[in-house]
Amino acid sequence: MEISDYADTDAVNLEYQNKTFHYRERKEYIEMFDPEEFKDNVGLVVSKLSKYLSDKSIRGINLYEPETLMKKIEAMTILENPEGTKEKLSEIVDLYIKTAIQVHSPGYMGRQFSGVYPLAGVMDFVSSVLSQPASFYEAGQLPIAIEKVMAHEFNKFIGYTGDFEFVTTTGGSLANMTALLAARNHRYPNVWDKGLDGLEGLKPAIAVSESIHYSISRAAGIIGIGENQIVKIPLNERKQICIGKVESTIIEARQRGLDVFCLVGAAGSTSVGAFDNIEELAEIAEKLDLWLHIDAAHGGSVLVSDDHRHKVKGIEKADSFVWDAHKMMFVPAMCTFLFYKKKEYAKGAFRQEASYVFDPNDNIYAMHDSASKNFECTKRPMILHFWTLWAIYGKSIFSDKLEYLFQMTQSAFWVLKDSMDFEAIHEPEANIICFRYKPQNYREDMHDFQLQIRNGIREGGKFFISKVDIDGATALRVVFMNHDINISHFNALLNEIRILGQKILNTKN
Ligand SMILES: *Cc1c(COP(=O)(O)O)cnc(C)c1O
Repeated sequence: MEISDYADTDAVNLEYQNKTFHYRERKEYIEMFDPEEFKDNVGLVVSKLSKYLSDKSIRGINLYEPETLMKKIEAMTILENPEGTKEKLSEIVDLYIKTAIQVHSPGYMGRQFSGVYPLAGVMDFVSSVLSQPASFYEAGQLPIAIEKVMAHEFNKFIGYTGDFEFVTTTGGSLANMTALLAARNHRYPNVWDKGLDGLEGLKPAIAVSESIHYSISRAAGIIGIGENQIVKIPLNERKQICIGKVESTIIEARQRGLDVFCLVGAAGSTSVGAFDNIEELAEIAEKLDLWLHIDAAHGGSVLVSDDHRHKVKGIEKADSFVWDAHKMMFVPAMCTFLFYKKKEYAKGAFRQEASYVFDPNDNIYAMHDSASKNFECTKRPMILHFWTLWAIYGKSIFSDKLEYLFQMTQSAFWVLKDSMDFEAIHEPEANIICFRYKPQNYREDMHDFQLQIRNGIREGGKFFISKVDIDGATALRVVFMNHDINISHFNALLNEIRILGQKILNTKN
């Protein structure tokens, strides 16, 4: 068949296993690609989302029994569709909304994913329909060009003076691993080819704060460092790396035969949002010849705030750092930024040749491909929704909201300090506050009691909070992510905890 014949044929018939598909004629294809149909479906979904956003009630999550939910899904998963497309689509979106944590509600106080700016979601939708992967210039011209421009925009707040590099990755966990790989390959250049033999007898180790995110330990397991070679540095009373113990801990580890090559600090720890002193870590790293990596997945966003940027002072001295925009830049996941102090570092994480994608001739297009610096081959154009907001509204919508939330968290801390029956565990530095309910009449196991409170609050459906283990016992954890939230919502949460807590104590006694 000639190409021209296709144009004349109403249906392309494919003979396959004795079946003939008249697929161009199939009702489903006609419907799915019909622009009017598309517009109708989008209209339907948008009106549902608009109703969802207009719901100002204080809500957490409507938690379903997994079995019940799976049965419901099973019943919906049928090949015939007697109800029609709109009804089914409607049912699916409704179920998604019903089962979702209401991230735009002040009741959502539990996790680090954004209470999103809806417009970012609109742009995410555009990206999904256009389907442009962003690892290669030819497939993702706009996202790649935006990344180049935004790198310099961000650098106004970071302050690199040399030839730095900026990469987007699918999440902070992958970004942490990518940076650790770059650090490992920088120190042990033969490992990439020879595997662990390339270590030539050395025992690679990394030094981290005691409260480091699990993705760092996981990365150590994956890239051949091994979890046992993670040297933990104790925290101070503010839950930051205890600067006075860094050098001695690393020297002691080296004396034990560990080749500590990398120091990892946190800018906004996951548990309490504590910021390590980067300036001091950089000084020690320089002195001990260590790669300094800063996990700023949570706190990197303070870079855009004139009030809070000082918390990451010295970040331009780190060899690499990670910043999740899908946390405090309030865009939907994923959107993660990975920065390297030197351009050449970025090229060190991976080394592959693949003629079908990597162009060995450094031409004006291929030189902007990011695939050689990314683990991903196909990658979401994750800068687009973020940049759209930045281009339309500028930096202040991000910094204002962040500053408000930090202030809210500080107010929550004062409320806790003033309450006889609550104990604040730390003075907040970000939008996270951890505390325990400790009424006078409690005699039970603290760990269990806080856990029951957390689960009870979640089941109540009004507030969604999380929990974290601090100093060996469970604490309640609140993360403020909504601009609609105010201190009265926090007070309402505390009252709900009191009622629930007393109920738990009364049923036990
Ligand atoms: C959230 C978080 C991560 C993990 O990032 P993901 O984007 O969820 O993969 C890593 N480190 C810290 C400090 C975090 O808060």
